[in-house]
Amino acid sequence: MPSKPSAPKAPKAPSVKKSKVPETLRGFRDVLPDEQAAWEKMEDVMRSLSRAYGFGRIRLPALEQTSLFERGVGKETDIVEKEMFTFTDQGGVRMTLRPEGTASIARAYIEHGMLNQPQPVKLWYSETFFRHERPQAGRYRQFSQFGLEALGSEDPVLDAQVILMCQRFCKDMGLDVTVQVNSLGVPSSRKAYVAELVKYFKLHKKQLSETDQKRLIRNPLRLLDSKEPGMEELKAGAPQMIDYLDDESKSHFMKVLEYLDEAEVPYVLNPFLVRGLDYYTKTVFEVALTNPGTEEGASMVLGGGGRYDGLIPLFGGRENTAAVGAAMGLERVLIAAKAAGTLPDPRRRSEVFFCQLGEAARRKGLKAFERFREAGIDVAEAFSKGNLKAQLEIADKLKAPIAIILGQKEVLDGTIIIRDMESGAQEIVDVEKVVGIVEKRLLEIRARKAVAKEKVEVQPSV
Ligand code: ATP
Ligand code: MG
Repeated sequence: MPSKPSAPKAPKAPSVKKSKVPETLRGFRDVLPDEQAAWEKMEDVMRSLSRAYGFGRIRLPALEQTSLFERGVGKETDIVEKEMFTFTDQGGVRMTLRPEGTASIARAYIEHGMLNQPQPVKLWYSETFFRHERPQAGRYRQFSQFGLEALGSEDPVLDAQVILMCQRFCKDMGLDVTVQVNSLGVPSSRKAYVAELVKYFKLHKKQLSETDQKRLIRNPLRLLDSKEPGMEELKAGAPQMIDYLDDESKSHFMKVLEYLDEAEVPYVLNPFLVRGLDYYTKTVFEVALTNPGTEEGASMVLGGGGRYDGLIPLFGGRENTAAVGAAMGLERVLIAAKAAGTLPDPRRRSEVFFCQLGEAARRKGLKAFERFREAGIDVAEAFSKGNLKAQLEIADKLKAPIAIILGQKEVLDGTIIIRDMESGAQEIVDVEKVVGIVEKRLLEIRARKAVAKEKVEVQPSV
């Protein structure tokens, strides 16, 4: 006897395993809408400075052949030794996510025959870069730089101009900075200096940490950069590059300083400033806050650069193609500006807010809204809200002095309401004429505000 079929089981809901959504990678971050006002201000400053000083923008590829950085940045540098994101693609090509901009700039200058253009060729960039570093405050694995490069001239006025632009960039972001400067001379004078440096540190070898002993052998100049305990005192007695500079480098350096004096750029000489990259010659500099306030602020270099007369010839470009450049770290500039309270208010402000009431108004409103946008009037909206009170509350929050209200009745009549948010007064106007009338009202409101501000300013202080 066939067994009684058991009642069919209710199908089991397929078990969906809730896996955690992967988070951002270490050292990488999202830049959310609230931060955009600050970034936009910084972008405006970069653009206007670059335009004023005649720098043309270049956009660089994110990936380059690994050998570009190995040769251009130098094998003995932190970047090439341990910070590059390098991989081999499907075709077997070794490539690297750009860790800095100058090597690509030098490549582009040669590749596009820019040496046939009037010199110097001045270029600027604003790009993200990638370095595999230990993330901490102001140090990320993806970060952004504002870069400036003047290629094809050895004139010291260009060193001064690039330094000055870095200082002005910070100033326009509300930051008071001081520039540290030094000269590394040309390779021959530097060689003589390094020999003396090695002699000096060999005498004190026992006092050097293991890392510094390695530096002594592989890249002795970097000893001047060392933050190991006890090095401050040792460095104080070390020979200084300035005493070994060749005449040409010395006079170049003096000129740079004279230009900086004349332009009133605050600077200090730092005989131990060497900078991380191999390609520098003559001038090197770093930009930091004049009054950092905290220890963290003090250790945070905002940017730096220098002259790199050897790089283009190294890449096979024309001999004697001199160049100078700088890069400012944008996240660090923002951290400093935030601490200094000089960032713009992230909240959106609009002079006009568009309200709609009812389905027909919403439909017609989409078109009416566009008329304002086309006329270049900054109008905010909340089309997803149906309730007038909620919309007027948003208008209030945005501090919009004018609200436009389109309701069922107005749609039928071909009219629209203009509401003065301060007095609550409303006028009904022809929808075809509303843009012109709002423009007029805005002018009146701005004039009223200017008069009110003037009155406050002339009031005698008590
Ligand atoms: P640091 O000594 O701080 O490592 P660096 O000498 O490696 O700096 P540069 O290659 O000269 O830096 O880059 C110029 C600027 O770019 C720095 O002064 C800094 O503001 C910024 N920068 C460099 N690396 C990072 C990073 N990992 N995260 C955020 N900003 C960075
Ligand atoms: Mg570094």
